[in-house]
Order: sequence, then structure tokens, then C-alpha cells
Amino acid sequence: MLYANPESAVRALSASWRWPHFAVRELACRCAGRFCSGQYWHDAEFLDALEDMRARAGRPLVLTSGHRCAGWNAAVGGAPLSRHKQIAADIQIAGHSRGALLDAAIEAGFTGLGLGRSFLHVDRRARPARWYYSGSERLWIQ
Ligand SMILES: [Zn+2]
Repeated sequence: MLYANPESAVRALSASWRWPHFAVRELACRCAGRFCSGQYWHDAEFLDALEDMRARAGRPLVLTSGHRCAGWNAAVGGAPLSRHKQIAADIQIAGHSRGALLDAAIEAGFTGLGLGRSFLHVDRRARPARWYYSGSERLWIQ
């Protein structure tokens, strides 16, 4: 479900928020008012998987991107049908072992896995997919 801004999402969801390690603002659009008011896409199953992944990784997951409005997705070079236009997360790799972070994502049920140089993209999709970004492949294959 899409909320127009973080305030409306927090107001609607705070009473039932059950994901202690994540907050609406981390997952809301980061265009800083250029294209939207910080809209937020709520997906409880996505958040469940993110909490599960965090527990498996055993340390905090720093999110560098969550939901993106259409304007922001285009501005940052996202694919036209990017899952970020609903909900996906880019997780900073610094502080983690690449292999352990990827294993945690898979075990938590994420099926869209984008293996970047400095981040791991995760989403949930019906047909599993895994891809590399430019220049990232050698970092992941050992
Ligand atoms: Zn935006």
C-alpha cells in the first residue's frame, strides 16, 4: 500500500508496527521533495523478510535505497520496471561478509538479488532473478 508521505504512514502504521530494526523513513523515497513528498510503500511480508535477514546476518542492515517514486527512480538510473517503484531495498555491504549477507538474503526468502559493488539489492518476486551490476561480478565470485 502506498502512502503519500512518511508522516501519514507513521500515523496509520505505528500502532501495529512490528519491525523493530526498520523505520518508515529508511524505506521512504529519498528524492527530498524533488518529485514527491517522501512517499512510502508498505508491504508487511517484505518487512518480515528484512527482519529475518537482519537476524540471520547478526548485525544491522544499513539501507541505501528503499521505495522510489517514478521521478526519483528515473533520476538515479533505475530500470523502468524497477521493484523500487513498489518496494525493494539496497543494503550496504560495508561491515558484512558478502557471502554471509547473500546467504542471509536467500534464507530470508528474497528472490530478486542484485549483487553490486557496495550494496546488495533485495526484493521479493514470483520468478527468482539474480544479476550483477557493472564491474561487480568479480567481487562476488570466489
Ligand atoms: Zn520521491
